[in-house]
Amino acid sequence: MNGKSIRVRFAPSPTGPLHLGGIRTALYNYLFAKQHEGTFILRIEDTDQNRFVPGAEEYILEALHWCGLEPDEDVVRGGANSPYRQSERSAIYREYIQILIDRQHAYYAFDTPEELESIRDKHQQDRGEVFQYNIHTRKQLSNSLTLSSEEVRHRIDNGEPYVVRIHIPENQEVIFQDLIRGEVTVHTANLDDKVLFKSDGLPTYHLANVVDDYLMKISHVIRGEEWLPSAPMHLLLYRFFGWEQQIPQFAHLPLILKPDGHGKLSKRDGDRLGFPVFPLEWKDPVSGEVFTGFRESGYLPAAFINMLALLGWNPGTEQEIFSLEELIRLFSLERIHKSGSRFDPDKAKWFNHQYLMSLSDETLAEMLVQLAVDSWQSSPSPCHPLDDLSYACLVVPLIRERITLFPDLPVSARLFYFPPESYDPQVRENVCKPGTPALIHRFMTEIAGLDPWAAEAIHEFVQSFTARNEVKTGALMMPLRLLLVGSNQGPGLTDIAAVIGKEDFLSRLGSGLERLG
Ligand code: GLU
Repeated sequence: MNGKSIRVRFAPSPTGPLHLGGIRTALYNYLFAKQHEGTFILRIEDTDQNRFVPGAEEYILEALHWCGLEPDEDVVRGGANSPYRQSERSAIYREYIQILIDRQHAYYAFDTPEELESIRDKHQQDRGEVFQYNIHTRKQLSNSLTLSSEEVRHRIDNGEPYVVRIHIPENQEVIFQDLIRGEVTVHTANLDDKVLFKSDGLPTYHLANVVDDYLMKISHVIRGEEWLPSAPMHLLLYRFFGWEQQIPQFAHLPLILKPDGHGKLSKRDGDRLGFPVFPLEWKDPVSGEVFTGFRESGYLPAAFINMLALLGWNPGTEQEIFSLEELIRLFSLERIHKSGSRFDPDKAKWFNHQYLMSLSDETLAEMLVQLAVDSWQSSPSPCHPLDDLSYACLVVPLIRERITLFPDLPVSARLFYFPPESYDPQVRENVCKPGTPALIHRFMTEIAGLDPWAAEAIHEFVQSFTARNEVKTGALMMPLRLLLVGSNQGPGLTDIAAVIGKEDFLSRLGSGLERLG
C-alpha cells in the first residue's frame, strides 16, 4: 500500500454528543492513517438542519482532543480541501447534483410530504408492506419520469418545492469488497430512490458524503455498520459520476453491544446501568439532561482509548495494554471482528486501574492535591494542609492499589486529612469491650514518648505493649482503628499512624474516647 495516498475521514453529524462507538470509529481511522503515514480528516456532516444540535460540533472537537486523536485537516485547522463543514459547501453539491440530473441518473420529484404520507398509509393497509419510492412505485408518482418536461419546467419555474432522487437502474447487481465483511452483493431491485437533494437547497448525507469523499481523495471509508446498506447506492453514485477509478475501499465496523450482549449500546444504557457511554459529559441543550462522561468519571484518556481499541479489534496475542504508538504499529483492519463487541464497564475500570497504577507516586500525589483542594476547601479545618504535596506523597503509596477512578483518590485519602466524623456503631459494638477505654488511655500515655515516630517503631511498640499488658494485638488494634478512622476500613494502622503524625494520632484517640464515652 502506498502510504502517501492513504486518506481517511471521520465524518460525524453534529446531532448530539459522540458516543463511545463514534470515538472508536475515529480511533480506527486515526490508527490506520498514522500507520500508513496518511491523513486523518475530520469532516462535519451537518446538512440535515432539522437535526442540528448546538454545541455538538464543539463537543466532537473537544472529545477528539481529549482522546489525543488530532485530525490533520478539520474545521479549525483547515487544509487543502476546505471547508470541512458540509453546510458551507452547498454550491459544490448543487453543481454535482446537476450533473446527475443532466445524465438522467437523478430526477425531480414533486410529491409533497402529505401525499407521501397518505401513500405510505395506503400501501401499508392494502399490501401490508412498507412503501418505498423505488423502481416499481416511481412510475405512479409525481416526478420528472412521469411528467412532461414542460410540466417539470413549469413547476420548477413556479417555485414549487421539489427534491431530487437517485434514479436506481433496473436489473443490476452491485458488488463490492468490504475489508471486514468480504464480498457484498445487492440487486438494484432492493434499493430505493433515495433523496439526494432536498427542497431546502442542501444535499442529503448520501450525495454530500460521496462527493466529499471523492473531492477529498478518501482512500478508505472506515465507518459504522449502520451505513453498510447505503454503500451499494454510494457505489452507484461513483459510477454515475464516472469516478470508478476513485472508489474508496470500504470497511464497515461491527456494533458495540450492551453489557449483556443484547442489542446495540445506547446512550440511555449508561446512566441506566451506572457507567458512562460518552467520552465527555454532555448537557442536552433542550432538556437540560446531563449525561456522564468518561473524563468526568475519572478515566485517563489513554486507558479509554486502549479499552476502545480492543472493543472490536484484537492483536492476535494475549497483550491487553497498548500505548497509542503501539496501537498505531499493530492495528490492522483484517483483525477487526465481524460480530458485535460487548461493552464491559468492569473491563473499562480495569484498564483505568492499570493505567493509574503505572503513574508515579508523585504524579498521583499532584492529582490528589488538586482533587483534595477542589473537593474539601470548604470542609471544616483539616488536620493537614490540603495543598501539601510532600504530605500527599506519603499518603499515595498507602492508597494507590485501591484507586480505580480519579474520584477514588480523595475518597481513600480522606482519613489522612480529617478525623472521623462518626464511628460505625456495628464495629463499635464488636470491638469496644469494658476494659478498652482504660487500655487505650494507658497506650496513649506510653506511646506519647515514642521517638522517632515511624511505622516500624510504632509496630514494635504495639508488640511490646500488648505483650506487657497480656492482651491480644487485635484487642488493641481494632479499637484503635475505630478511633482513628471511624470504621474497620483503610490501610495498615501503623502506616496511618506514621503518616498522620504523633500529634494528630493522639488527638484522634483522645477525642474519640471522649465522644464514645
Ligand atoms: N455522517 C455520518 C454519521 O454521522 C457519516 C457516515 C460515514 O462515515 O459515511 O455517521
